[in-house]
Amino acid sequence: MPIMRSVLLAISENRWMRAHGQRLWFVRRAVSAFMPGEELEDMLRAAATQAPHNIGTVFTRLGESVTEWSEADFVMRHYLDAMERCRSAGVGSEPSVKPTQLGLDMDAGRCHQNLRALAERARQLNSYLWIDMEQTAYVDATLEIVRRLQAEFGNVGVCLQAYLHRTMDDLAALRLLGVGVRLVKGAYSEPPALAFPRKADVDENFFRIAVAMLAPLGRPAAFRAVFGTHDAVLIARIRAHCKAIGVADSALEVHMLYGIQRAEQLRLVQAGVRVCVLIAYGAFWFPWYMRRLAERPANVGFVIRSMFAR
Ligand SMILES: Cc1cc2nc3c(=O)[nH]c(=O)nc-3n(C[C@H](O)[C@H](O)[C@H](O)COP(=O)(O)OP(=O)(O)OC[C@H]3O[C@@H](n4cnc5c(N)ncnc54)[C@H](O)[C@@H]3O)c2cc1C
Repeated sequence: MPIMRSVLLAISENRWMRAHGQRLWFVRRAVSAFMPGEELEDMLRAAATQAPHNIGTVFTRLGESVTEWSEADFVMRHYLDAMERCRSAGVGSEPSVKPTQLGLDMDAGRCHQNLRALAERARQLNSYLWIDMEQTAYVDATLEIVRRLQAEFGNVGVCLQAYLHRTMDDLAALRLLGVGVRLVKGAYSEPPALAFPRKADVDENFFRIAVAMLAPLGRPAAFRAVFGTHDAVLIARIRAHCKAIGVADSALEVHMLYGIQRAEQLRLVQAGVRVCVLIAYGAFWFPWYMRRLAERPANVGFVIRSMFAR
């Protein structure tokens, strides 16, 4: 793993840096390129600006590794309220949530109850619940919860990470259940025994899994296949594969993060691909932002420049 990426990922998990890093004014200024603000209203405003471009939205309130039930329950209520606010604002945004923000570190059963409340409300609102994937230690517990929610509500998708060796097998089991899959490369620091250390291998595995996700055989009608990537070369390769197997661009769904690859998002919409941006907001953005820097260390230059910008 390149050194800069390792350093940034180590910072993202460091308690002291988590508590103090985001107070630095130049870091606060730099993060604004990737999130519209800390409040729910900021997310709603940003989501409303996407619709005229035919771009859908997914939203996430930043936070993870919660250690108090009062906080996990607050987050659950926040998402219930946010879904209502999206509905009344006419913004068709779907929530994307981290299990450790809803209590997975404390008790999987109670975390399931919190997520259950979200899946139930999402179904009532004719929406969809996305569940993020965190470090490998959480994969089994997350998938178990996802399977239970899908069996009960049928409107649940989960993020799978192409850097993990296990992901092709996980996909095979999930798609038979109709669980939606948002395939991403993977944002955490994982050992080589569990994850491909080389980026080229991750990219290749992403493509192999994408091909499996698009294969018609054994694919339930309701299976939602989403590619969560900003990698224009990879997306072009997936589109070429779709063309070869007779899958229309309009059947493809790509999700990107707010503030990244805007031109590519608009190009894909023009081509008929369904595009959504994931809009993050909330006060606890430091580890999430460090992972964005780790994905593209050139972004560190952006932070440094923001120290000097007026
Ligand atoms: C919608 C969505 C949801 C996600 N959910 C999860 C999740 O639940 N769990 C998880 O582990 N990971 C998640 N990720 C993050 C993902 O794992 C990758 O770390 C991230 O998307 C970077 O990989 P990439 O596919 O964009 O490809 P890369 O090869 O890293 O990047 C391709 C190109 O995209 C651009 N780019 C990529 N990242 C950035 C950036 N940060 N800033 C500026 N430009 C950039 C650059 O031009 C780069 O050359 C999510 C990503 C997206 C888009």
